Amino acid sequence: MSHYDILIVGAGHAGAQAAIALRQNKFEGSIAIVGDEPEIPYERPPLSKDYLAGDKPFERILIRPATFWAERDVAMLTGKRVVAVDASAHQVATAEDETIAYGTLIWAAGGSPRSLVCSGHDLAGVHAIRTRADVDRLMRELATTTRVVVIGGGYIGLEAAAVLTKLGKKVTVLEALDRVLARVAGAPLSRFYEAEHRAHGVDVRLDVAVECIIEQDGRATGVRLADGEILPCEMVIVGIGIIPSVEPLLAAGAAGGNGVKVDAYCRTSLPDIFAIGDCALHANGFADGAEIRLESVQNANDMANAVAKTLTGNPTEYHAVPWFWSNQYDLKLQTVGLSIGHDAVVLRGDPATRSFSLIYLKQGRVIALDCVNLVRDYVQGRALVVERKSPEPAQLADTSIALKEL
Ligand SMILES: Cc1cc2nc3c(=O)[nH]c(=O)nc-3n(C[C@H](O)[C@H](O)[C@H](O)COP(=O)(O)OP(=O)(O)OC[C@H]3O[C@@H](n4cnc5c(N)ncnc54)[C@H](O)[C@@H]3O)c2cc1C
Repeated sequence: MSHYDILIVGAGHAGAQAAIALRQNKFEGSIAIVGDEPEIPYERPPLSKDYLAGDKPFERILIRPATFWAERDVAMLTGKRVVAVDASAHQVATAEDETIAYGTLIWAAGGSPRSLVCSGHDLAGVHAIRTRADVDRLMRELATTTRVVVIGGGYIGLEAAAVLTKLGKKVTVLEALDRVLARVAGAPLSRFYEAEHRAHGVDVRLDVAVECIIEQDGRATGVRLADGEILPCEMVIVGIGIIPSVEPLLAAGAAGGNGVKVDAYCRTSLPDIFAIGDCALHANGFADGAEIRLESVQNANDMANAVAKTLTGNPTEYHAVPWFWSNQYDLKLQTVGLSIGHDAVVLRGDPATRSFSLIYLKQGRVIALDCVNLVRDYVQGRALVVERKSPEPAQLADTSIALKEL
């Protein structure tokens, strides 16, 4: 049986950064990363952006080249899936019938795409966008695709819609709620993106329910809506969120549910087991201490950095400022803070100029900004979020006043 001082489960953003940061912090013990995908760690954001567009080859989205891991003596156990954890024996078992022993376990297994529950959800031509394999499979079908239906108006669905529209496909976006990005952004941002997509020729449908995917010869040929309308298409993309990959940990007795619960040091309730990244359910200070999971590169990297410090003799709590970005067409959205629970939104600038910000307030204090093509506000607004400033809304809206002056 192999043994590693630190075993990392999940070869994604969080797992890769944990190994990088451990070596940066002079950890000299043995490290292995076990991941169920065949690839060494790569960046996921380009999967719905430049990689999908065919503008970046796979080698350019690797988090580090293969030589990096070998040079730092990080064992890459790719193509292996951990199916069970024995916390008291300090061992994991893989689907490939291997047992691996560890001193400390870092669970960084992310999540898997939520699938539709209606009939036809698993037909050929129905795709998720989570892994390189998903996107390669989808891209192979593009040559024979003219019409695409995207189910879910979140960031991934909208980014894919933007890329596919640019590639000349006729795209329809179906959103169950009354606006796109409803879970993550304020209404003015939703309305702006809906208008942008429509201006690019995307058919954005709100408040719609999907009845089923229609089949012919084993392939998806359309989407039937609850009102009976049929949208013919050759491809369906489903972007309706993820389910955190934590079953083996929960089965081993870890506290959790929608993710695995961690404390301020990213420790789970099981001995010597940490959890980081998309799967870690944590109390976040930028959400007033509410228990949430964040699905972002920032959260994956910063949790990994905190755990690496803790494991190298410098106990470090995770308190990083949340940030996120999304690219659609020529629009670069940058977000800082968390808008969850906001009770007011200030519009700064004119959306018609395609360069503006939304500033979210809770009880008068700034909790988040969404900045569209406006790096300056994003950079300067960060301090308002960190310090929870409470400037006058009229001042926030006044573009003649730089945010750093507030
Ligand atoms: C298409 C797309 C676009 C995105 N765009 C952005 C963006 O613009 N900005 C941003 O900040 N974030 C973006 N994100 C989110 C960001 O990529 C994630 O938050 C980040 O990847 C989380 O890192 P992670 O390590 O927690 O999980 P992941 O990167 O998902 O890595 C987890 C890995 O663990 C593997 N795994 C799962 N279970 C097991 C198991 N039992 N055994 C072994 N291996 C296992 C998974 O297959 C996966 O390889 C995007 C995500 C996607 C999918």
